[in-house]
Amino acid sequence: MKDFLYQAPESIKDAISIYQQFQSSAVIMAGATDIIIRMRDKLISPECVIDIKRIKALYGIEFSESKGLLIGACSTLNEIAENEYVKRFYPFLAQAAESVGSKQLRNRATCAGNIVNASPLADTATPLYVCGAVIEAEGSEGKREIPIDKFITFVRKVDLKPCEIVTGIRVPHIPGIEGEFFKISRRHEVDLSTVCGTVAKTGGEYRIALGAVAPTPVRLKKTEALLSGRKLTASLIAEAAELAKSEISPIDDVRASRQYRLDMSALIVRRGLERFAS
Ligand SMILES: Cc1cc2nc3c(=O)[nH]c(=O)nc-3n(C[C@H](O)[C@H](O)[C@H](O)COP(=O)(O)OP(=O)(O)OC[C@H]3O[C@@H](n4cnc5c(N)ncnc54)[C@H](O)[C@@H]3O)c2cc1C
Repeated sequence: MKDFLYQAPESIKDAISIYQQFQSSAVIMAGATDIIIRMRDKLISPECVIDIKRIKALYGIEFSESKGLLIGACSTLNEIAENEYVKRFYPFLAQAAESVGSKQLRNRATCAGNIVNASPLADTATPLYVCGAVIEAEGSEGKREIPIDKFITFVRKVDLKPCEIVTGIRVPHIPGIEGEFFKISRRHEVDLSTVCGTVAKTGGEYRIALGAVAPTPVRLKKTEALLSGRKLTASLIAEAAELAKSEISPIDDVRASRQYRLDMSALIVRRGLERFAS
């Protein structure tokens, strides 16, 4: 690994100022579970690493009915999985956070890092997609909010301007939303998703998002429209599972074939909907 300057500012303002000094030769580091591997493998060789973990303003998980859930950018996945508000109002997000890596990894890894890393298989993405979460960012020109489905633009590409930092993730309060996170992986523990997804229901509407089936996580808008306000029968569920396959574009890779991912996507949709069928 190439030598680099390590900076650990204690305020967002100082972090942005260091970032502006080094521009694209600096990287932000939170839990470091992705970035250090990329540095070790020489995929990136930054001159400066800006560790944001000493910035107190980036910690905390808050909830109110009017503002919803605010997850600080440095809150860890274990903190999210164990948070009472997350478990009560967004149980599928708690399940997704708990499914990432190992307990030790989740003591360091952040949800913000999982999203900025923009892997198509990021486990915390699909719960945030179904809730319409918003990414809060701050840079030299001030603060911005970006809907998550506009934030992740491609594999490892996000809508962050130069020297902008993610400060938090805001998840709207959706009264009565219920749902489940699904992860299909080769091993039961400490493995990346072959396909993942969240199926949720709020009132008579269904919200479905899948991961690892396209360059970005995908919200299945056509399938949701098919189901909207309708009674879930076995034939409607089968139709929805089939339609879901037309909304994704999985690839063959080391983890699975395109066909397996199509079949598992249909399975997730079917299992997710069956829990709501009476
Ligand atoms: C053994 C192992 C198992 C894993 N298993 C899983 C798994 O099951 N599921 C899964 O989804 N992932 C998994 N991962 C990937 C990884 O742990 C997650 O993506 C993690 O959530 C990243 O968070 P972090 O805080 O460690 O990010 P970091 O490594 O610190 O950063 C990741 C990226 O985000 C950027 N970044 C981080 N925070 C900010 C911020 N606030 N503002 C701007 N940019 C920022 C960094 O510059 C970097 O590009 C695994 C990794 C390992 C090593």
